[in-house]
Amino acid sequence: MESVRKTFGGSVVLRDVDLEVAPHTVTALIGASGSGKSTLLRCANLLEEIDDGAIWLDDEEITDPRADQDAVRRRIGVVFQAYNLFPHMTVLENITLAPRRVHGVPRAEAEERARELLERLGLGARAGEYPDRLSGGQQQRVAIVRALAVRPRLLLLDEVTAALDPELVGEVLTVVRGLKEDGMTMVLATHEMAFARDVADQVCFLDGGVVLERGSAEQVFGEPVEERTRRFLRRAT
Ligand code: ATP
Ligand code: MG
Repeated sequence: MESVRKTFGGSVVLRDVDLEVAPHTVTALIGASGSGKSTLLRCANLLEEIDDGAIWLDDEEITDPRADQDAVRRRIGVVFQAYNLFPHMTVLENITLAPRRVHGVPRAEAEERARELLERLGLGARAGEYPDRLSGGQQQRVAIVRALAVRPRLLLLDEVTAALDPELVGEVLTVVRGLKEDGMTMVLATHEMAFARDVADQVCFLDGGVVLERGSAEQVFGEPVEERTRRFLRRAT
């Protein structure tokens, strides 16, 4: 992202945001409620139109009006706080829907890929279940599998543990750690500071729509430069 600016009805929500995400790295967005983390992720996925600046994915400027927005979205997986699985579809149907309908992958191939991912995320036995038979953590893991099923270049995760009971948070975080080991490029917004510190290569502290501080997890958590970052971390950890 370069000099990205986003306003809602006159109020500036993202101000001159520069953000570079290297392939196969994890970037954690931290900051108080309302600081702009979700908006940043939504802009990255073109769910929101930016007012100024530019966003690139690989070498393509995806905010160029001539860019094929649907094609861009197909390369970016998104998982939000509320997992939003389709309740009337089984786990397998939830996962294979987009690959089959949007990407034209034949059913057998889509199902094979889905089963492989489910196996890897410890859900191999649940393919035929309906979502309401699964725990929140299991549902969230299915949502992650669903995002991965289309082989995205980039995975955006917005507070994927926020709706979960504390005892279920761990299993989702374990999945994210595993994806990192597999080399998936991820940008995640989180209030789980211990997790951000553990998993992130790059940490960005947002404050009022500005990336006030950024650096390695070690730098931002260990020796924050800005007073506001220090204050936030004192309260949040
Ligand atoms: P949280 O930690 O609570 O999820 P956040 O950092 O994700 O917060 P955002 O949801 O990005 O924050 O919101 C940033 C600011 O933009 C807030 O002031 C919010 O009220 C405003 N905002 C977000 N979406 C909209 C919208 N669709 N219309 C108007 N204002 C919005
Ligand atoms: Mg948010």
